[in-house]
Amino acid sequence: MYIRDTIAAVSTPPGNGGIGIIRVSGDQAAAVGHTIFKPVYDGGLVSHRFSFGAIRDTATGEKVDEAMAVYMRAPRSYTREDVLELHCHGGWLVVERVLALVLSCGVRLADPGEFTRRAFLNGRIDLVQAEAVMDIIASKSESALQLAQKQREGALSRRIEDVRGCLLRALALVEAYIDFPEDDLGATDAEAIQAAVGEAQGIIDALLLTFEEGRVIRDGVSVLIVGKPNAGKSSLLNRLLNENRAIVTHIPGTTRDIIEETVTFDGLSVRLLDTAGIRHTDDLVEQEGINRALDKIPQADLILAVFDASREFSHEDQLILDAVSGRRTIAVLNKTDLPRRLVLPDEERFVALVKIAALSGDGVDLLKKTVCSQFLHSTAADSREFVALSRARHRDALVSAEQFLSQFSNGLPECNLELLALDLRSALQAVGSVTGQTATDEVLDLIFSSFCIGK
Ligand code: GDP
Repeated sequence: MYIRDTIAAVSTPPGNGGIGIIRVSGDQAAAVGHTIFKPVYDGGLVSHRFSFGAIRDTATGEKVDEAMAVYMRAPRSYTREDVLELHCHGGWLVVERVLALVLSCGVRLADPGEFTRRAFLNGRIDLVQAEAVMDIIASKSESALQLAQKQREGALSRRIEDVRGCLLRALALVEAYIDFPEDDLGATDAEAIQAAVGEAQGIIDALLLTFEEGRVIRDGVSVLIVGKPNAGKSSLLNRLLNENRAIVTHIPGTTRDIIEETVTFDGLSVRLLDTAGIRHTDDLVEQEGINRALDKIPQADLILAVFDASREFSHEDQLILDAVSGRRTIAVLNKTDLPRRLVLPDEERFVALVKIAALSGDGVDLLKKTVCSQFLHSTAADSREFVALSRARHRDALVSAEQFLSQFSNGLPECNLELLALDLRSALQAVGSVTGQTATDEVLDLIFSSFCIGK
């Protein structure tokens, strides 16, 4: 339930920084400002104007810090409530003391995401936009940021509204006949209902198709590097990272555990996992590393199987082929600076084959591009119109709406209007949960609890 009390929190990250911001939202915001902030210049706190002054402990009269304060009168604020921001020095102790002073004015400490939750409850943004705020903060790549910004601007919400519009149109027609049972559903109205539902289904289907790419853009992908010892996995990892993170030696079996690093290729966030070389061994420690590598194979979004192209295909290479069977795998032929001896069987089982020389870096850029092309398909991703689903919550809601709509279409010939209306209402309920019209308190708790404090 939404209680209109006044809340406050530190909105800058924990620790020491240049500036620390304490945010206050609610009816008491202005009163807090007048109590603890003394502007240097006359005129007091004017809405949407910064003023310079001092924060004072009202009990002792002590000056706690010099600060800038900005008061934003409702509804022109982030939460659509009265908001006060105090910008003080960014030392954690200063910030904590200012927050304590604010709380001593009878204000409550905000829960995680509570400012954004109020922006949602007060109708300034919908749920997709609220989630996009969180995604903006958590973005790991340019494309993730771009997608989140578009969702915050309402690109996805508008599509969802289009679907709702179609379904409401269809429902109004069906309900009109329920109200006048003496009339049979006329052919023209039946067509109009079908057309409206068809249009809604079309938008839903198109959105569902964007989910895989949206998820990849938002969360990034995991790419596992496997290969026999000495194939050049660590050298490749270093090339991909542009640093000497993995140990490169000519002694087979040196990378015994899994090394994990995150990089960005062409705007795609990639979690790279370099594994122990896979081979038969009696060394227990090495075998443990190999087991861990094998365990990771089913979870990876993509596998880079590295082969030493300067050596003949071996039993150890066959072990790699068996291990990655059925998984999305790029064959990476390394050491192509040396004369080629490798003949790789069943090349067609790989989604791509890229020749590189990890030592010099030849071919590595092409490999990066090939990795990206496995996940990012729409050149439209850069365009202003690009809209994608990026959360399983949105996808699940639309899948459920889609099921109600196919049930509706199957039931249309029988013309049981009550049942048809029920299907449409259930579909509307599912679609509305995406933007939050029909989201329950439990769903809101779940979403906003993963926000940071002060947002
Ligand atoms: P890993 O065991 O698969 O991680 O292999 P490393 O990256 O440790 O490399 C094994 C050996 O192969 C090292 O001596 C590397 O210098 C060498 N090596 C790696 N890549 C290339 C390459 O492209 N060309 C040549 N000639 N040698 C390479």
